[in-house]
Amino acid sequence: MRKCVKIGTGVIAAAIVIAVGSIVAFTTKNPSIGVFLCSPCYGFKQTASNFYVERETPEEKIISFKEALDNATVQVKDVFGGIKAPTPKIFVCATKYCAKRIGMNPNGEKASVILAGRMMRVAPGGQSNTILSHELTHAELHHRVGISIMAQGLIPAWFDEGVAVAVSQDSRYLTLSKNGALHCLLEPGQNLPSDRDEWNKRAADGEHDLYARAACRVIRDLGVEDQPPRVLGDKLLRSLVNITSGQSLQMP
Ligand SMILES: [Zn+2]
Repeated sequence: MRKCVKIGTGVIAAAIVIAVGSIVAFTTKNPSIGVFLCSPCYGFKQTASNFYVERETPEEKIISFKEALDNATVQVKDVFGGIKAPTPKIFVCATKYCAKRIGMNPNGEKASVILAGRMMRVAPGGQSNTILSHELTHAELHHRVGISIMAQGLIPAWFDEGVAVAVSQDSRYLTLSKNGALHCLLEPGQNLPSDRDEWNKRAADGEHDLYARAACRVIRDLGVEDQPPRVLGDKLLRSLVNITSGQSLQMP
C-alpha cells in the first residue's frame, strides 16, 4: 500500500513539473499572455482596476497617462454613442525594455490591442490621446462586429485602420478643420491591403502613407469628408449594422 502511495505521489509530482514547465515555455514564447496572467512577473504594479504600470513609473506620468486615457475614451464614446466593449487590461510601459519584454516592437509599435480586445499594451511613445483613441476604436469596432466576423476577415484591414485614424482625428494622416471636420491628406489610390498580415508587413516596411490613404478612403466611402465628427458616428454605425446583418462591407 505504501509503495502505491509513493508511486502515485511521484506521478503527480512529475505531472506538476511537466505542467509548470509547459506554462513557462508557453509564456516565454508568448510574453503578452504571460503578463496578462502574471503582471508582477513582468515588472508591473496594478494601480487601478484593469490598469497596470511598469514599476518605478513616476506618479506624475501615471496621472498624465490616465488623463490622456480618459480623454481618448470620451472621444471614442462620442463617435460610437457609448462604449460597449469590455474594458481591456491596460499595461503601460515607461521604458523600451519593458515594451520589448511584453512582446512589443518598441522601435515602431506604440500601442496595440490584442487578445480579442481584452488587453492593451502601451509603449513609451504611445501615451497620447491620439494613439490611445486609435486603439480604443479598434477594440470598440471589433466588439461591435463580433469575434466571428473578425475571425472570418470580413473587416478589411484598410477599413479597420482608416476608421481608427478618423475617430482619433489623427492629424498625421488627415487634415482637420477648426470645427473638427475631416479632410483627406492623400488620395486613397489602389492596392490598400485588406489582409491584416499584409497590412502589418507593409506598414512595418515603412509604408506609412497607408494610414492616410486608408483614412481618406473611409471618410469618402462613408460620405463624411468635410462633415463634423457626429456625422462620422452616424454613418459608421450604419455601415457596421450592414456588416453584422450579413452583408459584405457596404457604406451607407
Ligand atoms: Zn491601428
